Amino acid sequence: MLKRSLTIAAAGLMAGCGVSQQQEVQMGQQEAQQVSAQLPMVQDAIIQNYVNNLGQRIARTTSRSDLNWQFQVVNSSTVNAFALPGGFIYINRGVLERASNMSEVAGVIGHEIEHVVRRHSVKQMEQAQGANVGVGILCALTGVCQSGLAQAAINVGGTAVFAKFSRTDEVQADEGGFNNVMRAGISPRGMYTFFQKLLAEEQQSGSGNAAAWFADHPGTTDRIADIQRMLNQVPASTLNSLQTNDSGFATMKSRVNQLGPAPRVQGQ
Ligand SMILES: [Zn+2]
Repeated sequence: MLKRSLTIAAAGLMAGCGVSQQQEVQMGQQEAQQVSAQLPMVQDAIIQNYVNNLGQRIARTTSRSDLNWQFQVVNSSTVNAFALPGGFIYINRGVLERASNMSEVAGVIGHEIEHVVRRHSVKQMEQAQGANVGVGILCALTGVCQSGLAQAAINVGGTAVFAKFSRTDEVQADEGGFNNVMRAGISPRGMYTFFQKLLAEEQQSGSGNAAAWFADHPGTTDRIADIQRMLNQVPASTLNSLQTNDSGFATMKSRVNQLGPAPRVQGQ
């Protein structure tokens, strides 16, 4: 009964109005709590600060600079990154391990930021017709999910938040991410070189640690071609004037290399 009435209320919420920024942030906060309960984070302050400062630098240049952006490093050597509604961005340690310079990390962060700028998760939820998805959202919005029954529902909602973005979303995130990085004065070449590196790793091993990125980010070969096309449109003098590396990168990398082996995390 509880579940049914929640579903109806949620359906009304979904049909009646869009998700406001405040609701989006509340959903993100709720999801972020689940993420920190379920995924190990890198505790090293130098690594966390490096990624957070770089993320803030890029996020500040976007149309959603008013969000309380947060950037965290997940202690997983798998190459992956994800964004929650409201500006919570997670970069796996595996991205840092493979990056050769600051602009490669920036390319991944810029891409995830654009998912938030374009509210891809929110749009997906607004379009979702499934009742369970509505229940999850209502739980997130009202904090009604303290009970066991409601907790089961929010797990379903959580799955919806983590649902795969469409190919179109990914292309948009690349294009927007490319521009986000450039506006921050950083070379977008890093996005291209990093994606190429992942593709090469994937082709060599067939599966392995790069696989998660490709599963979550469809159409990689086409996307690399798109980024190449965008790069070709930027004058060489502009590209050369943009930053590729910074002094903190090497320090951050040496800290990453000193970390013990990452714990194995299911689905990461
Ligand atoms: Zn993406």
